[in-house]
Amino acid sequence: MSLADVTNRIHTAETRAGRPQGSARLIAVSKMQPPERVEAVLDAGHRLFGENRVQEAAGKWPAWREKYPGVALHLLGPLQTNKTRQAFGLFDAIHSLDRPKLARTIARIAQEEGRCPMLFVQVNTGEEPQKAGVLPGDADGFIQDCLAMDLPVVGLMCIPPAAEEPALHFALLKKIAERNALRELSMGMSNDFETAVSLGATYVRVGSAIFGARG
Ligand SMILES: *Cc1c(COP(=O)(O)O)cnc(C)c1O
Repeated sequence: MSLADVTNRIHTAETRAGRPQGSARLIAVSKMQPPERVEAVLDAGHRLFGENRVQEAAGKWPAWREKYPGVALHLLGPLQTNKTRQAFGLFDAIHSLDRPKLARTIARIAQEEGRCPMLFVQVNTGEEPQKAGVLPGDADGFIQDCLAMDLPVVGLMCIPPAAEEPALHFALLKKIAERNALRELSMGMSNDFETAVSLGATYVRVGSAIFGARG
């Protein structure tokens, strides 16, 4: 596939679901990709990207932001509290808010800096022990605690278990978002982004289908 193919498929899925074009935004996941592939996508005019690691993003994106105005960068991977301030300097959104200590750290730094990236609470919909995210049963309480701290939580994120039907997980995420009045849903990757769009994704996170296999 390519950027154009993925974009077209998203538009088709939006139309099929009766959704307006552009209602599902494409985060091009550039982690571990050779720079020339990322630059080709920037040169094509795409401006929304995702990275998994603070350190990796810090080594690549400040220069690309200078060269390509209008870039928005989202952190998709786990965030250690001691990297929170650095993440504030690099990212426009964090998709991996998943524990009280991180929420408190973000709230403190937001207070000090007078601004905060857009936040997504990550939900471990498959209740996988090795995976980050709050458990579905703890999600409502955690989301409401974050909102009570004035954190700009706009939506939810999930990564379904590799061996399960993703649609069930996307539907669960949507249900949790709806009952907490959150509008954004970050769900869907290279193998299942069309399913995610059909179930209400407002952000899909697609890497290898755009850039090719990671090095
Ligand atoms: C790597 C990654 C993606 C993109 O995965 P692909 O299968 O390459 O599309 C999306 N979301 C998260 C959280 C990731 O870590």
